[in-house]
Amino acid sequence: MTRAVYPGSFDPATYGHLDVIKRASKLFDQVIVGVLLNSTKSPLFSVEERVNILKDATALLGNVAVYSFEGLSVNFAREHHASVIIRGLRAVTDFEYELQMAQTNRVLAPDVDTMFLTTSLEYAYLSSTIMKEVARFGGDLGRFAPPQITRRVIEKLQKQGDK
Ligand code: ADP
Repeated sequence: MTRAVYPGSFDPATYGHLDVIKRASKLFDQVIVGVLLNSTKSPLFSVEERVNILKDATALLGNVAVYSFEGLSVNFAREHHASVIIRGLRAVTDFEYELQMAQTNRVLAPDVDTMFLTTSLEYAYLSSTIMKEVARFGGDLGRFAPPQITRRVIEKLQKQGDK
């Protein structure tokens, strides 16, 4: 059985992330999405919210599970007995950082390999940051994520504005 983990911040998930998850779910017997609890970043959504958003969005994919994790991706992979870490590559700008991460992970855990899925072209420009930025200025989010996610982004930003 081949099991892969897909770690990231997912603050929140976009069509780009969901595309990677869907494609990975066809390549591996099981895909475990890991939502990083990163204390140095200040995310829009709590880790529990990000996990729930992803669980809802992947509910129809029977071999995908979503958990939160803290610390190193290689440890998350080992905890779940996964031999592969999946990452998405959008453009050359992702490459240097991703290569460095993959090489570091290889030193830390030679038994865990990193595999990159290149983004589908229609999502190459897309990131959670871009989606939040457009949302802050009231732009149309329809091309960025499914309605159940974009609705939550708008609600969250409204709540923040009310404070
Ligand atoms: P991180 O903070 O770990 O980069 P992200 O949530 O931004 O977390 O991204 C998680 C993974 O998904 C990364 O490998 C990133 O390159 C990939 N990714 C993000 N957006 C897209 C997209 N539009 N298409 C394909 N992969 C993407």
